[in-house]
Amino acid sequence: MTGPAPTTRLTRFAPSPTGYLHRGHAFSALTAFEAARAAGGRFLLRIEDIDRTRCRPEYEAAIFEDLAWLGLTWEEPVRRQSDHMADYGAALRELSERGLTYRCFRTRREIAEAIESAPHGAMEAFRGQRLPPAEEERRVAAGEPYAWRLSLDAARRALENRESGGFESLTFTEDGEGPAGEHGLIQARPELGGDVVLARKDVGVAYHLAVVVDDALQGITQVVRGQDLFEATHVQRLLQALLALPTPVYRHHRLLVGADGKRFAKRDRAETLRELRGSGMTAQTLRAELGFG
Ligand code: GLU
Repeated sequence: MTGPAPTTRLTRFAPSPTGYLHRGHAFSALTAFEAARAAGGRFLLRIEDIDRTRCRPEYEAAIFEDLAWLGLTWEEPVRRQSDHMADYGAALRELSERGLTYRCFRTRREIAEAIESAPHGAMEAFRGQRLPPAEEERRVAAGEPYAWRLSLDAARRALENRESGGFESLTFTEDGEGPAGEHGLIQARPELGGDVVLARKDVGVAYHLAVVVDDALQGITQVVRGQDLFEATHVQRLLQALLALPTPVYRHHRLLVGADGKRFAKRDRAETLRELRGSGMTAQTLRAELGFG
């Protein structure tokens, strides 16, 4: 008997060049790299640089340097999201043509106020904000900038009209651990994120859409990333269903914390990989400290 051809495991590390990498990134990159290696698979690096105002070439150069120092190797060419805006535009158009998106003209300030006044936070604040068509047209004609949001209500209806069922049909496999110990087959709850932004006013695309399109285009079979993105996975699972894209296995990992018990952040300069390297630490020492000795 012959089963389906086994797929090669393909993992990725997808940093944004908005600062220098720190220990937390090293842990994440090593976890993804080792997950591929352990399965005789492949490892990719992806540069998530859609936010041109925050990304800088020197941070991107440092990503390559720091990861090479850590002992990682990756396939070329490296996909840089800013080179592929047309791919994200096509996915957005597909969703929009099916009535699954709407324009949101709110300013940052209006959004903050809406969150504050909503009894249940973002989930309530960002649902059902589609404007009447006449008003929408008027504001577009007036040149007001807008973001595109995913309509959860429309998405739910779209899935219910298919044989597969509504949101209840959306599951993913957690091979690591969510923040509350979630493991195994997980029921996705995309409503947690509200009507997420698919395309930002300033950039023309947003994180969830770009990641889902890229993971599919690159054939990623296992997404390895921190538990801070566990909720994002629920939203991304819905986008995969709407765009008929495959769902990778997810492996969320714990987040490293510093001596003060707080998560590493790009602002903690002393903990950046280049500072550690500059202070004489070897990659071997850091790898061992992170459990990859
Ligand atoms: N670019 C994202 C970040 O740096 C990670 C995206 C992902 O792993 O899905 O936080």
